[in-house]
Amino acid sequence: MSTLPGLLPGLLTDHDSRDAVATDRSGHRPVTLPDGVVRARDVQDVVETLRWASAHRTPVVTRGGGSGLAAGASASAGEVVLDLSGMDRILDLRPQDQVAVVEPGVITSHLDAAAAEHGLFYAPDPASAAISTIGGNIATNAGGLRCAKYGVTREAVLGLDLVLADGRRVSTGRQTVKGVAGYDLTGLVVGSEGTLAVVVGATLRLRPKPLETATLAAHFDDVVAAASAAAAITAARLQPAVLELVDAVTLEAVDAARGSALRSLGAAALVVQCDGRGARADIDAVAEVVASFATSWRATSDPVEAEELLAARRAGLPALEATGDVFIEDVAVPRSRLAAAVSGIQAISARTGVRIATIAHAGDGNLHPIVVVERGGTVTEGPAWEAACAVFDLALELGGTLTGEHGVGLLKRTWLARELGEDSLGLQRGIKAVFDPLGILNPGKGI
Ligand SMILES: Cc1cc2nc3c(=O)[nH]c(=O)nc-3n(C[C@H](O)[C@H](O)[C@H](O)COP(=O)(O)OP(=O)(O)OC[C@H]3O[C@@H](n4cnc5c(N)ncnc54)[C@H](O)[C@@H]3O)c2cc1C
Repeated sequence: MSTLPGLLPGLLTDHDSRDAVATDRSGHRPVTLPDGVVRARDVQDVVETLRWASAHRTPVVTRGGGSGLAAGASASAGEVVLDLSGMDRILDLRPQDQVAVVEPGVITSHLDAAAAEHGLFYAPDPASAAISTIGGNIATNAGGLRCAKYGVTREAVLGLDLVLADGRRVSTGRQTVKGVAGYDLTGLVVGSEGTLAVVVGATLRLRPKPLETATLAAHFDDVVAAASAAAAITAARLQPAVLELVDAVTLEAVDAARGSALRSLGAAALVVQCDGRGARADIDAVAEVVASFATSWRATSDPVEAEELLAARRAGLPALEATGDVFIEDVAVPRSRLAAAVSGIQAISARTGVRIATIAHAGDGNLHPIVVVERGGTVTEGPAWEAACAVFDLALELGGTLTGEHGVGLLKRTWLARELGEDSLGLQRGIKAVFDPLGILNPGKGI
């Protein structure tokens, strides 16, 4: 039952509408539902919602595709959800400037497809590109498979249109590729998880689509050998666009889901893609590095065969989700420590008895240890959560970070001071207070 003060036009308070937006894909289940949801159709809806929320001191949880993995978009009683998935227009695409102007609810893969019609691409490609929104990607500074070469979402955002907590509209950044006027408020809002402002528009950088790609899949006796090969590729000054690692637990799940026999080829695999005019020569150089670690490998320049190799990697998470409930971790370590990280994760799994699969954006040193529990089990407390916490510890010990791309959200907040230190955290709280003095934007998340 809603306890909301005053009247906000367009606020939906029925049970099903609230239930549909209560959480994300993290496995976190709030014990109560939010009080209501506004499905914004345009910027004015956002402005009015925030004016109302400021007047009534009601917390607002902004939501895109709800595909987040840190409970950043989870909402409970006393809060209102602002759903931007309906603001999904690509407003302008200027091939000559290699720039797109979009609303926040545009699905990531839709922008990439629109850019492809002009021989361009939108580089950040989270594995969730078919279900996540550009606004959510900006708010989490999402990464993806191609980020090994092209960088994360922050590198693709030139300017933002924002609605501040009190309903004022502000534009940050620029329409140009370069520009250094003033503090970088755009960069600050990217990755701020809905805690500083609501993103209602973005000017994004597109890139020329590489004319050639070459792809390699390699198989290994164990995951430490695969991680060592990935680190050796980086150490050899090679820069693949995609460098992904998949372990035995994941390969078994993929085989079960797709009827393949990848596990029989080894206990871990790397999928590597080089692009650009030198793609073939680059993949040959990658093969030379990989050869001393791998039991077998094959390379192809055929786009259809390459897609098949990448599809096996992309199938990893859905295949694991088919075997139980999952908690998808997201730590990153210096790339030279990748092998230490994967062997540490194996040791944590053996010690705790918790099943942990590992998929990694190995080119970035970004690991996704995936805790798998029986269907209906709990992943955010008990043994599964203890195993996840041991992984956080491991990442910090190795000089890494708690989150490479999914964000702090609700779930990692208690760990943040360990990584940042109190002084840095204090500065961040000061910034939050400047943007959101009443503390109504996604309180309790991020910092
Ligand atoms: C199968 C799967 C694979 C994934 N793979 C990747 C991956 O490869 N890389 C990666 O980085 N992530 C990945 N993710 C996580 C997730 O898709 C990303 O975090 C994504 O950026 C979230 O986008 P969303 O639109 O779903 O945002 P939501 O989940 O709706 O929200 C995420 C956060 O952003 C805030 N937010 C959303 N929209 C706005 C806005 N317009 N203004 C201000 N704040 C906003 C929310 O308040 C919340 O804090 C994956 C998730 C799944 C389920």
